[in-house]
Amino acid sequence: MFDKILIANRGEIALRVIRAAREMGIASVAVHSTADADAMHVRMADESVCIGPPASINSYLSIPAIISACEITGAQAIHPGYGFLSENANFVQIVEDHGLTFIGPTAQHIRTMGDKITAKDTMKKLGVPCVPGSEGGVPDLETAQKIGAEMGYPVIIKATAGGGGKGMKVAQTAADMKMAFRTARAEGKSNFGNDEVYIEKYLTTPRHIEIQVFGDGKGKAVHLGERDCSLQRRHQKVFEEAPGPSISASERARIGKLCADAVAKIDYIGAGTIEFLYENGEFFFIEMNTRLQVEHPVTEAIFGVDLVREQIRVAAGLPMSFAQDDLTINGHAIEVRINAEKLPNFAPCPGRISQYHAPGGLGVRMDSALYDGYSIPPFYDSLIGKLIVHGRDRNEALARLSRALGELIVDGVDTTIPLFDALLAEPDIQSGEYNIHWLERWLENNMAS
Ligand code: ADP
Repeated sequence: MFDKILIANRGEIALRVIRAAREMGIASVAVHSTADADAMHVRMADESVCIGPPASINSYLSIPAIISACEITGAQAIHPGYGFLSENANFVQIVEDHGLTFIGPTAQHIRTMGDKITAKDTMKKLGVPCVPGSEGGVPDLETAQKIGAEMGYPVIIKATAGGGGKGMKVAQTAADMKMAFRTARAEGKSNFGNDEVYIEKYLTTPRHIEIQVFGDGKGKAVHLGERDCSLQRRHQKVFEEAPGPSISASERARIGKLCADAVAKIDYIGAGTIEFLYENGEFFFIEMNTRLQVEHPVTEAIFGVDLVREQIRVAAGLPMSFAQDDLTINGHAIEVRINAEKLPNFAPCPGRISQYHAPGGLGVRMDSALYDGYSIPPFYDSLIGKLIVHGRDRNEALARLSRALGELIVDGVDTTIPLFDALLAEPDIQSGEYNIHWLERWLENNMAS
């Protein structure tokens, strides 16, 4: 096992990893930009290294600075968290070339899944059902129009290198195709340096269901059920729950096994998430994320496992500490993402926290790097906390979420807390009847500015 690991991230996820390391008796090294000198992850880690100025490109994304920080402190392994360098195959290669361990999958797995066309092709070959669409990349507008006509509108044009909801455009009718095709390409090029796009049928009432998988890198893999992340704004998740309210035990077992078998076949190592759209009882693969997800705590809650501890274990060459038969679901969990954003437009709202009080009590987990007097810098993501509740069933989880939101105090900046108070009053949320378009429609009707 490692003696010391470095966390190449900030905020709540850096804390999450430091906590797992500490419970395992492993020392932790935080890295930070000059804007984060007073951040909680720096205070909580055993050691810290300043790796550059505020802009992420010169700090949290600076590979030489992070490798140097490992060398200076003697850290043997790097946990990337999510975002930043977590899905950068080149980084993984460099980490390994320096004799360090990357806590995550191999560069090859990241490369395969990071390109969505290659990922779909790989999954198809492994027997995983995909959204109907173009065979690979679509080179020009004429081909795109031909595919649109054949497949029938609406369709979605997606950048193969896309992520975080960027590089995706919907064409409702043939008349929209020209604009959608050009915009998706341009977004792919400007955000990811790759203008290759592909086309999928645009599903009108699906849920976003994702399967958590975990592999040992030696041909063994398990699944940890699904998360329903259908409540999204601009293709970004805001509320996640497990198990999915619409998924039966037999469907879970079937799709879960399919996913576990698929990743076992490619000797996948560590945590991964296979994302599907689910409509009329059918699953359609959309992409695989080769890292820990923001919403992993809902899975941890219902299975009673520590996914970060498990990531560190397999990275160190140890076997997984659970087999499929050990994994049983206990109750229901919900996570809401607390962002420093001003409603109704969700404009980022950095600033000084005058008062912070985290909720507590049975079944409540607050993952956040906030503290009284902390100043949220304007340079990074607006996620400032995740409130996770766990109950014996969905109704108890909902009641607990409402109670915990009532206890949570974040003063000094605007946050998305009022959004969740309002959502909890909605009959569709109470009954679990929503799909990926529900929240956008609700926002239009309830929060139009
Ligand atoms: P990203 O990598 O940017 O997160 P994804 O491919 O995971 O992109 O898709 C993100 C979200 O976009 C999905 O959860 C879903 O809401 C929507 N989406 C993606 N593909 C489709 C599709 N074929 N039909 C309808 N919605 C889609």
